[in-house]
Amino acid sequence: MAADVEQQQLRAYVEYLRDLGVYDLYRRGEPVFEVETASVSPAALPVESVRVPTAQPVTAAPVLPKQPVTTVAQPVRREFSEPEIPKLVSFDNLAPLPEVRVAAADRPAALEAIRQEIGDCTRCPLAYAGRHKIVFADGDPGARLMFVGEGPGADEDMQGLPFVGKAGQLLNNMIGAMGLKREQVYIANIVKCRPPGNRTPEPVEANTCSQFLLKQIDVVRPEVIVALGSTAATYLLGVKKSMAALRGSWYGCRGAKLAVTYHPAFLLRDPRQKAEAWKDLQMVMKELGLKSPARG
Ligand code: URA
Repeated sequence: MAADVEQQQLRAYVEYLRDLGVYDLYRRGEPVFEVETASVSPAALPVESVRVPTAQPVTAAPVLPKQPVTTVAQPVRREFSEPEIPKLVSFDNLAPLPEVRVAAADRPAALEAIRQEIGDCTRCPLAYAGRHKIVFADGDPGARLMFVGEGPGADEDMQGLPFVGKAGQLLNNMIGAMGLKREQVYIANIVKCRPPGNRTPEPVEANTCSQFLLKQIDVVRPEVIVALGSTAATYLLGVKKSMAALRGSWYGCRGAKLAVTYHPAFLLRDPRQKAEAWKDLQMVMKELGLKSPARG
């Protein structure tokens, strides 16, 4: 009888709490739910189904069996030294100027000795880039005026002579306008083998070949050197500047005076610059005391 009263009072109290919006009721000491630690891994349960009331003491997390530590092979870091960027060194700083000049009569033989030293050169990558002939030089071993270009093109590569293609024809005309013949000047290039596709020689190619051009200059000992284009100027002078900055001035190179003008190939592409090139050549003519030939 007393139990019935107690039950009725409890039911009334629960209904009262429900009216207040309290639905979850627990008897003191009653476990909320049982956590199965043995068979079900928490990782296997969907997250929503694990409901841990914060008011309850949290059951200790199940101890998971230790996984063996797998070591992943890391790529071995190997240290490579950076390839050295070849420095620009002027021809004047490459080697001291020989105190004794080669006598005029000995110059052809001295130049031939340099050609023999070059041999069938394989000192730089241009030897393996489709070269046919090594283009040593052309002209007078005793010339007062020397022209230095960039490197042989296709025609030069086939004939073994510098400036024999279209750019060469224009150079011949420029030389003629100065009152000289091609045979009276000395013509060479920064590199003696054709760069593939007529690209600009790489620094390593230019630097490797420089030693021979330097010896040729030291044998010929011209009074004036004309650098044809920026590549020739860059390697002869050891500075990288724009043509605008380089033209119109005199520089020193192996005891000669050096002037810079446009490369004939550039003048073929932009003939409007021929008047500017003519100014450069007139500066050279003045230095050498040359007069333009009378127009016939
Ligand atoms: N361009 C050069 O620079 N040199 C040559 O010999 C021919 C074309």
